[in-house]
Amino acid sequence: MAGNRMKLELSRVLQGGSRLGVLKGLGRTGQHALDVPGCLLYTHFGTVPHLTQDTLHSLSNLPSVTQVTLSNIAEHQEVMEEFKDGFVKFSGLHDTVLYCSLHDPATQCPTGYTTNKTVSVWGSGGRIELTVDKFMALQKAVKPDWYQSMADGETWQSNTSRKRVRKSVDRTLAHLDECLLVHQKSQELEGVEVFGVVEGGDILEERLRSARETAKRPVAGFCLDGLQMGAIEQNLRTQLITAVTKELPEDKPRLLQGVGRPDEVLACVEAGVDLFESFFPFQVTERGCALVFSFDISPDPERAGRAPPKVLELDEERNSMEDKQQNGDLNLDDQTQMTSFEINLNDKRYHDDFRPLVEGCGCYCCKNHQRAYLHHLLVTNELLAGVLLMIHNTAHYHGFFGALRNALAIDEMDLLKRRVLRERKDLDG
Ligand SMILES: [Zn+2]
Repeated sequence: MAGNRMKLELSRVLQGGSRLGVLKGLGRTGQHALDVPGCLLYTHFGTVPHLTQDTLHSLSNLPSVTQVTLSNIAEHQEVMEEFKDGFVKFSGLHDTVLYCSLHDPATQCPTGYTTNKTVSVWGSGGRIELTVDKFMALQKAVKPDWYQSMADGETWQSNTSRKRVRKSVDRTLAHLDECLLVHQKSQELEGVEVFGVVEGGDILEERLRSARETAKRPVAGFCLDGLQMGAIEQNLRTQLITAVTKELPEDKPRLLQGVGRPDEVLACVEAGVDLFESFFPFQVTERGCALVFSFDISPDPERAGRAPPKVLELDEERNSMEDKQQNGDLNLDDQTQMTSFEINLNDKRYHDDFRPLVEGCGCYCCKNHQRAYLHHLLVTNELLAGVLLMIHNTAHYHGFFGALRNALAIDEMDLLKRRVLRERKDLDG
């Protein structure tokens, strides 16, 4: 039997499907909890990119669950096995729950490499082919608290045939059964939880079949795969997720892989998703941008010490993005491109802007530095630019999730959506 201490306590379920609650009993001793809707802490090999553990822990409201991926770890299998004490100790992580997933959500995986018996991950040294045996040996060496089962997720491209999608669902179920078999016989994995993976591309029947069959297995939760940013249009994604979550047991968490944009997060929460991966602030940082979208729904933002929404400024950014789009310079499907939730500090308009990134933000970057300084760090290629941007973007993104839970608790999701999406009528009003 896989571990069974993880427990989802829902305090509210809204009519549309949004769920508010706490995931309890996390970690081998069950002492950790995670609020939902929430996100996991995105890392490269256990480290939040650009940040040391000390810097990271100067931030408040960090998730209690750290995500590592086998694409980072697989090539170090021998070292991990020799080390014996698991990944948390190996990488010097503070007290955290460890979740091990297959692929890095911030990078797109090449397709065409899975077979009936294997799945491939890409490390810094290239492709590593995983059989169930190798996959499970890695889990035993990593010693996570929960892990994503092996899955064939190569169906996210819109031209994937029905036959290929069906095969991916069949393979993923077969992988899950094999993983569970090894898991149940393994002493090292006692108390460790397994998340089953729901596949099915953009074909509703296959999504439903995958959800129903996975739900029959002794899994602690579900990963919704193949719905990542840029791969599928939001309306279709929402429809598929709504249908899938209806098939899943109420009392187990649903983690959506590869979706991180605030507007998409809101839509997916309303479709019944509980957990997300927090790779989005990293992508924003890598393009020299800062998250500045407003999620403040307090009745009087100024009295609450937060600036009003930076509507005009983001509109300027949006206009220049639209210009680029018309000139064919910008491909919106490319998730490395900037979104309307951020400003680009590389832009020369910030060279004499002496305001913080976000007025009223309590992060180290906003309390100590101005936009002009960040612009200077970026144009001179100073490493500190990434550090400061990552501090702010991480704080801002996790703050957004806090606001999302608050909005659900006080029935103000519509207001939050208007703030985040900055609808025209809101701007004019
Ligand atoms: Zn800040």
